[in-house]
Amino acid sequence: MIALVTGAYRGLGLETVKQLAELNYTVILTGRNDEKGEAAAELFRVSGKEVYYHHLDVNLDSDIEKLRYFIEDKFGVLDVLVNNAGIHYDTGNDVTNPDWNIVQEATNTNFLAPWKLTVAIIPLIKKSSRGRIVNVSSGAGSLQDMTPGSPAYSASKAAMNVLTIQLAAKLKSDSVKVNAVCPGWVRTDMGGLNATRSVEEGARGIVWAAALENDGPTGGFFRDGKPINW
Ligand code: NAP
Repeated sequence: MIALVTGAYRGLGLETVKQLAELNYTVILTGRNDEKGEAAAELFRVSGKEVYYHHLDVNLDSDIEKLRYFIEDKFGVLDVLVNNAGIHYDTGNDVTNPDWNIVQEATNTNFLAPWKLTVAIIPLIKKSSRGRIVNVSSGAGSLQDMTPGSPAYSASKAAMNVLTIQLAAKLKSDSVKVNAVCPGWVRTDMGGLNATRSVEEGARGIVWAAALENDGPTGGFFRDGKPINW
């Protein structure tokens, strides 16, 4: 089974690679800093795991195209796509006077990029007998539980949730399952030191959605494998 994780040399992405490799997935660890990416992949390889590094700035169409070609050429198929790369939990931003650069970057990285990458990867994931797409979202994007604050991040994750529902419906007949996962509040650079969960706990729910059996759900929003409010 071949899995691709974006934003994967630190934080939840790195832990997701680790847990998938422990389940014997071949993992393509991607990121935009080649030195950090190669070093992370090498650490997995010395412990006997099949982990490849490939460059990917999720916001660059040319990077997406080169990655798609790499997967097609090397494996001919992709089983799991984890759209993990994310940016700007903008707690300091005011919805009535936002920093538009942050709004634009959050929209690009958290919403448009996973959409574009997914579209590029669809032909490869349709070739899998158990294709899975995991959109790493956030409770901050839940419309029912929406609280004021971090407007750019919340809007971008709400949009990612829309994408999840639409893709799941469209890909259902191809047996590709698409789910959104909130990892909870996790101690990473984004979550900060006061967060309540470890990366191990946070990534577990992501890996659960990546490794779903064929009778598992699609088009849902989950934390720890349990449905949460859209
Ligand atoms: P993190 O530690 O800040 O890591 C973010 C990752 O995304 C980094 O590897 C970063 O790479 C990468 N990234 C950002 N922009 C990118 C781009 N243009 N191209 C490629 N990679 C890019 O954050 P995290 O906590 O692990 O977050 C992972 C995911 O979980 C995000 O989608 C986040 O929204 C979600 N999430 C986190 C929490 C939490 O409490 N931590 C809660 C809910 C949801 P660089 O080093 O190159 O910047």
